[in-house]
Amino acid sequence: KHIDVYAIPVFRQSRIGTLFVHRDITREYELDLMKSELVSTVSHELRTPLSSVLGFTELLLSKTMKPEKQLKYLETIHKEAKRLTDLINDFLDLQRMESGKQQYITERINLSEIVLGVIDQYKLSDTHHVLLVDEAHNSEVEADKDKIIQVLTNLLSNAIKFSPNSQEIKVLLHNEPDRIVVRIQDQGLGIPKDQIGQLFQKFRRVDNSASKKIGGTGLGLAICKEIIEKQKGSIGIESAEGEGTTVWFSLPIHRSASSRHEEEWSRWGADKEA
Ligand code: ADP
Repeated sequence: KHIDVYAIPVFRQSRIGTLFVHRDITREYELDLMKSELVSTVSHELRTPLSSVLGFTELLLSKTMKPEKQLKYLETIHKEAKRLTDLINDFLDLQRMESGKQQYITERINLSEIVLGVIDQYKLSDTHHVLLVDEAHNSEVEADKDKIIQVLTNLLSNAIKFSPNSQEIKVLLHNEPDRIVVRIQDQGLGIPKDQIGQLFQKFRRVDNSASKKIGGTGLGLAICKEIIEKQKGSIGIESAEGEGTTVWFSLPIHRSASSRHEEEWSRWGADKEA
């Protein structure tokens, strides 16, 4: 807590007392901190990809070169431009969230199908990691499909990004009586215990050189938390430094699917007893 304290002498000559005025400036302090984090993130995260776009376009314009080299430079420009677009989209999402303007279009969706779709996309672009899925038997939820894809994409790209030396990433779907839990499990860098709790806050990133070397805005997890909690779910992280990280989220099972699910559970229980 940050408090401004002013001591005001009541009379100049003969002081008969002191009036203390306390003002809680925690909110202002937090806003200042957020602004300076925003400025440093924006300046670093915008400047790095922009300078490589500029550098490579200047190279391409200044001299003739072999087509293979041109292609390589163009691929880098494309990658960096995409990084900028992702960053701007994260900022816009965050801004919409904070102003309460983010809209949710909920429908009945099958989470297993969505997970498989997202993983198929990754398999096309990432051949280094092995992505394994374990499906649940009932994964119908009522949620906004595009936002759930956004959460899965964010969590999976983190798992890939922070696993530079290990290959296996598992996505596990697990049924509980009234909810479905999705776990994204990697064996990568892991997170120091004392920093896990802060990572759902905006702009927070693990403060060590290995993580800092890998780029990022520190906005992805904050966005995931907002999306999951707006849909009556929960999200959390379990991690051990040097061993790996599991980020999980849960969503309530769709109501009618849930009663069907309860029936299945009790039938299964009765069968077992018989
Ligand atoms: P970004 O990845 O853009 O930095 P996030 O909000 O998604 O932002 O993540 C915040 C931070 O949490 C990351 O910078 C990283 O330090 C840490 N983190 C997130 N996921 C993982 C993971 N799977 N393994 C290790 N660290 C992670």
